[in-house]
Amino acid sequence: MTVLITGGAGYIGSHCCVAFLQAGYDIVVVDNLSNSNRMSLERIEAITGQKIKCEIADIRNQDNLERILKAHNCEAVVHFAGLKAVGESTQIPLAYYENNVVGTHTLLSAMANSGVKQMIFSSSATVYGEPQFLPLTEDHPTSAVNPYGRTKLMIEEMLRDVAASDPQWRFGILRYFNPVGAHHSGQIGENPLGIPNNLMPFITQVADGRREQLAVFGNDYETRDGTGVRDYIHVTDLVEGHLRAHEVLASGSARSNCFAVNLGTGNGYSVLEMVKAFERASNKEIRFSFAPRRDGDVAECYANTELAEELLDWKAERDLDAMCRDTWNWVCKNPRGYEAPST
Ligand code: NAD
Ligand code: UDP
Repeated sequence: MTVLITGGAGYIGSHCCVAFLQAGYDIVVVDNLSNSNRMSLERIEAITGQKIKCEIADIRNQDNLERILKAHNCEAVVHFAGLKAVGESTQIPLAYYENNVVGTHTLLSAMANSGVKQMIFSSSATVYGEPQFLPLTEDHPTSAVNPYGRTKLMIEEMLRDVAASDPQWRFGILRYFNPVGAHHSGQIGENPLGIPNNLMPFITQVADGRREQLAVFGNDYETRDGTGVRDYIHVTDLVEGHLRAHEVLASGSARSNCFAVNLGTGNGYSVLEMVKAFERASNKEIRFSFAPRRDGDVAECYANTELAEELLDWKAERDLDAMCRDTWNWVCKNPRGYEAPST
């Protein structure tokens, strides 16, 4: 079976390509390289020993997508392509609605015209807004506090409407908690452009000397040490969840043709616990100072993982030390990301 992977050159998409290739699927990557590097595709080939088909293309070009879906006989889609920076989404909201919402609409239209009716979609725990209870179950009310989150909610609703219109459609909406880590080979990993917004890439840049210190946003939350708590999940576990979701959808065994499921570990770690864990893994001191809370941040966020276990027969296995170790391995082997050969 051939699976189209949009955004397959990006951070999570590249790891997903490896997982699907190693599980025996043929894949076709569609990526416009707006936030990624061609080199990641070569690394996927190096890890798997397999050639991948890649189309440098934009998901907003429907005719081209239809051509690609038909030319490669694609039977399913895993859809990662989109913009993902919360702060940026408040500055250029139209670009977010266009890439994420219009892009997904265009992709769905191309799929409909090509008779491809199965999609896994990258959603986010951000759709839960301020937690009313923890751990977060999939039936927790949804809300969004920024344009990025609203694009995820709109797409989720679009998928539910399409699923309701025709039982042949099959959608797996996967709500990621905080993906971190890298492939254990150190060949592919997260490669943020500019100043990282997220905690783990920022910590890595303090560890390798690119940044002086980490600003810890808030130390007065009602958490065990006052700093924000999140559910960090190893990207390898995360993409194994995609593989399982794909298999469940393809087998027709899901109890509905559109499900939303959390992909997290169920464990929350504070910012200071992350700093300590990374110091252990890297043997480097992570200098930090406390700074005011960041707008829009919640105190705590972690997943209830029961539905994922029941529906997908999947559970995250890698612990925090593995997440930090694999991240550090990737950074040490690629101090300038994909810009230079792996050392
Ligand atoms: P990423 O930026 O590394 O990957 C996205 C890829 O999509 C990039 O390679 C980019 O070039 C490509 N792309 C963007 N717009 C495109 C377009 N219009 N046409 C074709 N390609 C396009 O991001 P990631 O971290 O791998 O995230 C993948 C998905 O997971 C995104 O949808 C993101 O919103 C979602 N997600 C990510 C996180 C996270 O923390 N990384 C958390 C929750 C959800
Ligand atoms: N955080 C921080 N300093 C940073 C980046 C993040 O203290 O430079 C904190 C942030 O306030 C949150 C946690 O780290 O409590 C995870 O933040 P991230 O942006 O990685 O994920 P998200 O907030 O989207 O869950």
